[in-house]
Amino acid sequence: MIKLHDKYFKPFISTKEIDDAIQRLVLEIAEDVGDEIPVFVGILNGSFMVVSDFVKKYPKPCEVTFIKLASYEGVKSSEDIQRLIGLTQDLSGRTVIILEDIIDTGNTLSEVHRIFKNENVKSLKIATLFYKPEAYKKDFKLHYVGIEIPNKFIVGYGLDYDGLGRNLPEIYQIKETQHMTNLV
Ligand code: 5GP
Repeated sequence: MIKLHDKYFKPFISTKEIDDAIQRLVLEIAEDVGDEIPVFVGILNGSFMVVSDFVKKYPKPCEVTFIKLASYEGVKSSEDIQRLIGLTQDLSGRTVIILEDIIDTGNTLSEVHRIFKNENVKSLKIATLFYKPEAYKKDFKLHYVGIEIPNKFIVGYGLDYDGLGRNLPEIYQIKETQHMTNLV
């Protein structure tokens, strides 16, 4: 168990499980993409680890770029998505695959679709390492999903709690509040 700020987190998904899930995503995507040279677009901050590990395994030429969006306040997703750094290159005619760390409510994904609406890309597909089906509120198709998880807050592997935990190589899940009944 680890403590970050005021909250406790327990081990949840190992580095091996993460690695296997990324390998599966790579194989699936590489097969679908065929001979195209795709542009992988990571959504910062959370996706930096998954993008790094994903492209190292990707067996063919590809491009990588990032956009920076922010929606989380502490442990709660917010509808107010801020675009901190948008697209910095012309992607018209390109095969684009969004690489997300986690899809929760889908609010961030709405913003991603807004960004790409007028970009004239050849195709836009969404890949995410983690997905919380119980929290997802949108209709956008998720083309590639690594691991489905329950609707509980996680940290590690790029995901933070108030700035901490991004550097953890595995995933930890928030621990529900302990009632100290056995202490009285
Ligand atoms: P959404 O907009 O789909 O609700 O959330 C997407 C973004 O919120 C992710 O890119 C990630 O930065 C953050 N997020 C969603 N769920 C979690 C979670 O369980 N833990 C952490 N640390 N961040 C999350």
